[in-house]
Amino acid sequence: MASALVSSAQAQTDRRLGFALVGLGSLSTNQIAPALQKTKQCRLAGIVTGTPAKEQIWADKYNIPRKNIYNYDNFDRIADNPDIDVVYVVLPNALHGEFTVRAAQAGKHVLCEKPMEVSARKCAEMIEACKKAKRRLAIGYRCQFTPHHLEMIRLAREKTFGEVKLIEASFGFRIGDPSQWRLKHELAGGGALMDVGIYALQAARYVSGEEPIEVFASETKTDKVKFKEVDESIAWSMRFPSGLMANCATTYLVGGMNRVLAAAEKGWFQLDPAYSYGGLKGKTSKQEMELPQIDHFAAEMDDFANCILKNKPTKVPGEEGLRDVKIMAAIYDSIRKGRPVRVA
Ligand code: NDP
Repeated sequence: MASALVSSAQAQTDRRLGFALVGLGSLSTNQIAPALQKTKQCRLAGIVTGTPAKEQIWADKYNIPRKNIYNYDNFDRIADNPDIDVVYVVLPNALHGEFTVRAAQAGKHVLCEKPMEVSARKCAEMIEACKKAKRRLAIGYRCQFTPHHLEMIRLAREKTFGEVKLIEASFGFRIGDPSQWRLKHELAGGGALMDVGIYALQAARYVSGEEPIEVFASETKTDKVKFKEVDESIAWSMRFPSGLMANCATTYLVGGMNRVLAAAEKGWFQLDPAYSYGGLKGKTSKQEMELPQIDHFAAEMDDFANCILKNKPTKVPGEEGLRDVKIMAAIYDSIRKGRPVRVA
């Protein structure tokens, strides 16, 4: 009896959780679906798409049964589908809230892409819906699962080079197609900051191990037509309780800014590139970091599945996404006011 119980508990934790991807755009197609094939505890079980032409392509490529294919209207029927354990929301930012809430109400755990949503109010609704449904919610902060970022955190926590005093973090790229949703405020909620500046913000937070108490930001817009609705380039600083400062920047105008540097009392450590899907490079004032490259998305999804199966907390819960959205709101507020702003 006891051994039967042990083996049934083992079978439960060895199980692969069924993931359904919502929104089959670039990230789902090129990163997440291929990553799912490399996971140990997950499998691509279903899809949710608003583009009928994608249904057959995905069904054929990933062997997805017809009954596990949904669109945005009939999505709520996923409640009756035991093949799906986790819904992974990979939609434009301002749709994350609606689909997270609907997934939770359908009894599914939710992994939601960054940024969590476009307002703190929407993030709070997502957290509440998952709590009410007793389902897990995690945000797709893939970098937190990579050996390189974990090493940055270790060097800071263990004070290998003494106390970290200053951090520089930046991420930007040259955005193409002027008609895409990323340039529409209603769908994106913001521009470069919400899209990629969030990586620099995250890195400053987890490397410092502190929460910023004040931000001071300014922006520049050289293309007022393309960036009519969202921010183009922002530089901001953050002050932390210990006195540590972080200088950060983001842009949609040029590539090449992709790093985090921590300057400590007796040396420094950095990643450059820091936030790409692969090929991360780390270095300290003493030596190069020799660390394996991994699939960030496979690690992120396996971690979430593991948390669900073993009933452990995730290190990237909704509260973590909400914190970033609040800090980004303070950054926009600082730009409007032209002065430092306290973070709520
Ligand atoms: P895409 O534009 O490539 O894809 C978005 C998909 O969402 C579309 O293909 C479409 O899928 C669906 N969709 C539903 N409604 C709309 C709408 N009104 N406008 C446009 N698309 C719609 O975006 P990405 O895949 O690059 O980004 C999706 C999310 O993932 C974003 O939140 C982004 O911030 C995040 N992301 C995270 C990254 C990371 O490294 N963690 C990297 C890149 C993006 P369908 O046709 O199936 O309905």
